[in-house]
Amino acid sequence: MSAGVRQRTIARPVEIAGTGLHTGARTAARLRPAAPDEGIRFHRADLPDAPAVRAGLDDVVATARGVVLGRGARVATVEHLLSATRGLGVDNLVVEVDGEELPCGDGSAVVFVDALRTAGLVEQDAARRPIVLDAPVWVSSGSSIIVALPAPRLRVTYVATADGVAIAPQIAEYREEVDDYAREVAPARTWGYVAEVDALRAQGLARGASYATALVIGPEGFVNEPRFPNEMARHKILDAIGDLALLGRPLWAHVVAVRAGHTLHVALAAEIARALATTGGAGDGGLR
Ligand SMILES: [Zn+2]
Repeated sequence: MSAGVRQRTIARPVEIAGTGLHTGARTAARLRPAAPDEGIRFHRADLPDAPAVRAGLDDVVATARGVVLGRGARVATVEHLLSATRGLGVDNLVVEVDGEELPCGDGSAVVFVDALRTAGLVEQDAARRPIVLDAPVWVSSGSSIIVALPAPRLRVTYVATADGVAIAPQIAEYREEVDDYAREVAPARTWGYVAEVDALRAQGLARGASYATALVIGPEGFVNEPRFPNEMARHKILDAIGDLALLGRPLWAHVVAVRAGHTLHVALAAEIARALATTGGAGDGGLR
């Protein structure tokens, strides 16, 4: 859990090797400690001079299938690593990537949680500055909505639905103060439809996707065994925590989402950033 007043980074470097979800190519990422207030920063280690890509809202260039960062050099599929950092309470981190995509592990955040735990966490000599809201903030699109309500700590409530198949709507809730992110959220895998995976593959995408890297939904229901009865909704919480980490500071709010996804998560984060700017930084430095 990410409670605590001080910022944290990892104690020592650690490497993660694996496959990129879309390219299907072998790739690796090395996590290194970073100084207080540096936030999360990627470096493309495969390019000359290893250009940096910041994990910030201004650097988001795509949200259609996972989050892509970087206006010059790009890093894709960052959301599960960002979710693990926020879920475990890691504020500052350098991530060197050997290509455009992070390793996808089994489609959940377990590979990143394990790496961060192997590296160990250390407190730093700087205070955390959570964002607190003084009024609700929301965005919607069609039948999808996400709202952030003022609250004393992070809480995420999610309703997820699968379209065109006999799977009932799912609901899940995560409360930062009492729930164990590593056990309750991190193992939930990304999910997708058999038909969608076929279409992505025809476009040369999702080459790394398989039953080993996702919860797959066919016309009759789940093709492989879910890890939780509400794994779809839990993974949506995982994604939302990762996308909201682009705010660069912990968010203390009750986030309620219905049928949302990366695009709306990032739009909500942008709306929160705008609200903070117009209220003169409400909640700035506000530890309560
Ligand atoms: Zn995801």
